[in-house]
Amino acid sequence: MSRAYAVAASVTDPEMPMLTLEDLGVLRDVREDGRRVTVTITPTYSGCPAMATMRDDLVHRLTEAGYAAQVEIALSPAWSSDWITERGRQALRDHGLSAPGAAPRPGGPIPLTLMPTARAVTCPRCDSARTELTSEYGATACKALYRCADCLEPFEHVKEI
Ligand SMILES: [Zn+2]
Repeated sequence: MSRAYAVAASVTDPEMPMLTLEDLGVLRDVREDGRRVTVTITPTYSGCPAMATMRDDLVHRLTEAGYAAQVEIALSPAWSSDWITERGRQALRDHGLSAPGAAPRPGGPIPLTLMPTARAVTCPRCDSARTELTSEYGATACKALYRCADCLEPFEHVKEI
């Protein structure tokens, strides 16, 4: 792992700061050519407002580390919540968030539904499967709000995409 990669990999997601861009699966490639570094990232979903912050943070951190950095955005293949690493999923649970389940199968048409999606979500605090959706949108569009029927704690679930 190059030093530039290590710097880029340690930048965190502005919306879920317990996750690095590497944990989130957003960091696709780091090419080092002397002091010039080109980082390729894939947005978590199109129009995610966090993307501009991620790009700025990457450039800032790499500049501090002595590199001339540029960030490229790769839209294909599209990011999937399946790309969140096991370490990232554990970090979500450690912070009381429920990690996404398996993403919808690629290939087929993606149903555009306005109804809340039925998911099997377990409570990140007590592991109870008795949870109920309270809001399809949490603090950010990529999270849904749930409540545990056993420990009664509300928690956020990172959506499958
Ligand atoms: Zn619970």
